[in-house]
Amino acid sequence: MKVGIVGSGYVGSATAYALILQGIAREIVLIDIDTKLARAHAEDILHATPFSYPAWIKAGDYDALSGARVVIIAAGVAQKPGETRLQLLSRNAHVFEQIIPRIVRVVPEAILLVATNPVDVMTHIAFRLSGLPPERVIGSGTILDTARFQALLGSYLRVAPQSIDAYVIGEHGDSEVLVWSSAHVGGSWIFSFAEERGYPLTEEVQKAIDQQVRYAAYGIIEGKGATYYGIGAGLARLTQAILTDEKGLFTLSILNPHIEGISDVTLSLPRIVGSNGVETTLYPTLDERESAELHRSASILKEATTSIGYS
Ligand code: ADP
Repeated sequence: MKVGIVGSGYVGSATAYALILQGIAREIVLIDIDTKLARAHAEDILHATPFSYPAWIKAGDYDALSGARVVIIAAGVAQKPGETRLQLLSRNAHVFEQIIPRIVRVVPEAILLVATNPVDVMTHIAFRLSGLPPERVIGSGTILDTARFQALLGSYLRVAPQSIDAYVIGEHGDSEVLVWSSAHVGGSWIFSFAEERGYPLTEEVQKAIDQQVRYAAYGIIEGKGATYYGIGAGLARLTQAILTDEKGLFTLSILNPHIEGISDVTLSLPRIVGSNGVETTLYPTLDERESAELHRSASILKEATTSIGYS
């Protein structure tokens, strides 16, 4: 299966590497405005194929996307230390105006996976520019925040994260919503399970987990300038779910007709993914505080898209 990647910087190349190491893609095309960079990554990653799975990876132009089932979009300008995701917005909107129409012209049937930050707003812009149905323009959204939430809960409760049903929804960013009220392990409410297990989820513990999930990116960016391995693995996993028609559950960002009284806003909810993209959206039961938080998240994103004329 062929996969295109537009924007071959840290995130794009880490995604290509994850796809190759796991044998998810048989053919990858890397596109970047910096053609030398795309060629260098393609060559370097090609050299990993004898140690992993047979696959072809090359740098190309937009015509080389022909036949790709999935196109991952990671083009844009990197987040600077201390810069919020929303501050990146206007710089990255301009990049998408250049690239989205060129992708859709060559592969109108493909599914677009958007990773550029601020990812919810960029997904909204990609959707508007593409003319594709919303289920085929998917932002990585809170896929990684949910993974962090499950991993931290798992480590505290001594349970494999795969066995924890807990999600982060809303904006991928400061206003995201950790849905504690309907988090479960094996059918038990997570708070009851935690008590029984002898590791109670006190307010202090909840606060610590919340902070680590919500602000993880800032610490990583401070330490090494960018985050890419986690999101690269997440995007590869998502690509696999699409290519294999998996019907797997991920928290992803697509256009929602209505969220907490706000119309046409792009943010993450748990969604089932298969070969046609997002097939179903789930609406977790929220308590009053979480509903208010989701409303706030939706308002922030709505304001951001409206402010740049993409409402
Ligand atoms: P990140 O950490 O988000 O991956 P990078 O700056 O490493 O950030 O990667 C973004 C990539 O997007 C860069 O390699 C950059 O050259 C590329 N890019 C920027 N503008 C365009 C564009 N108009 N078309 C294609 N690629 C672009």
